[in-house]
Amino acid sequence: MTFLRLERISKLYGDVAAVADLDLTVERGEFVSLLGPSGCGKTTTLQMIAGFVPATTGRILLDGQDLTTVKPNRRGLGVVFQSYALFPHMTVADNVAFGLEMRGVAKAERAKRVAEALALVHLDHLADRYPRALSGGQRQRVALARALVIEPPVLLLDEPLSNLDAKLREAMQFELRQIQRRTGTTTIMVTHDQSEALSISDRVVVMEQGRITQIDQPYRMYEHPRSRFISDFVGKANLLDGVVAQAGATARVAVGAVTLEVPGDGLPAGAHVLLCLRPEKLALGAAGSGRLPGTVSRRYFLGSQWLYHLDTSVGELLVATPNLGEEPLAEGAKAGIDWAPGMIRVLRDAEAAGA
Ligand code: ATP
Repeated sequence: MTFLRLERISKLYGDVAAVADLDLTVERGEFVSLLGPSGCGKTTTLQMIAGFVPATTGRILLDGQDLTTVKPNRRGLGVVFQSYALFPHMTVADNVAFGLEMRGVAKAERAKRVAEALALVHLDHLADRYPRALSGGQRQRVALARALVIEPPVLLLDEPLSNLDAKLREAMQFELRQIQRRTGTTTIMVTHDQSEALSISDRVVVMEQGRITQIDQPYRMYEHPRSRFISDFVGKANLLDGVVAQAGATARVAVGAVTLEVPGDGLPAGAHVLLCLRPEKLALGAAGSGRLPGTVSRRYFLGSQWLYHLDTSVGELLVATPNLGEEPLAEGAKAGIDWAPGMIRVLRDAEAAGA
C-alpha cells in the first residue's frame, strides 16, 4: 500500500500557483528527491507535507490517515532545513533530546535514544559540545540526529547539504543515504543539484513551474529524459532538432544538411524530433574517422574526464572523454566524432516541444 500520497495538492499565492495539482506517491522506506530550478515549487511542496504551509486544495495522506488539516507538530515528521537552526545555548545532546522532551519521553529513555541517534551520525564523542564549536558538517549531522531521534514516519530534508563545501557535501550525501537505509526512514529531499539527486535517490521527481514533469529512477531519468528541459537539466546533453527523412528500424534524421542514423522504433517520415546525445557517449578519433568531423574550440580538464567543445556542421557538440593519462587534443585540433546510433535518444514532437 502507498505510504505517503499527495492528491492534487495546490498552493496559490494570489492567483499565482506555486504548486499546481500535484500528485505524488511515496512508498515506505523510499528516498525521493524533488529536483528543479529555483522557484519551481519544491520547498512549497515540502512545506505542505510538513504542514507549515497549508495546501490551497488537495489532500495529503500518510499511511491511510488524512493529514491535510493536522497541525505540523501533530504530524510527527522529521524536518531538516538548510539552515539547521540548532539551539545555540544547548549542547549537542540537549539539541537532539529536545524533540523527545517535548513529547514527554522519560529521562532514561531519552538519554538512550539520544546516544543512539548521535552514534548513528558518528557524533557520540561531541555530545557535550555547543553548536558554535562544531564544523558545518557536524552541525548538519546534529540536525539530522535531532530529526531522526523521534523516529519519524517521514523525514523531510530541504537542501540539507547546500551549506557544505564540495568535498564534505559529497561525503555527506553518501552518509545520508547510508543512514536512511539503516533506519529505513521514508525520506523526501528537496535539491536543485541534479548530481545529488541522481546519486542518492531511489526516485527523482523533476518539477517545473509548480508541476511534476517526470518521475523516474535516477538511471532511467538520465537515459530516458522526457523533455528538452529535462535532457539538459539532468546531466549534460547535446540537443539537435531534426526531421525524420527515412523511417525504418534504423531511421535517418536530417539535422540541417547532415543526416544521422537513430533508433527508428515507430518513427514516421516527416516527424519532428529532438535528438539527445550525451557527451560521454561520443568518442573522438583522428580527423577523417567517425561519423562527423569537428574542430576543438575549447577543452576543459575535469580530473577524471576531458570535456571538449567541438565546432561541427550540426553546431557545437560537447564530448567528454575519460582521462586515461594520454596527451589531450589541443584547441584548434581537427577530430572525427563517433558514436553508436543506439546511443542517441530520440524525443518525439510533443515531448520535445516541452521547453
Ligand atoms: P528555490 O530552489 O529557489 O528554493 P523552490 O523550487 O523551492 O525554489 P518555492 O520556494 O517553493 O520554490 O516557490 C515557488 C514559487 O512560489 C516561487 O515563484 C515563489 O516566489 C512563490 N512563493 C513562495 N512562497 C511565497 C509566499 N509566501 N508568497 C508569495 N509567493 C511565494
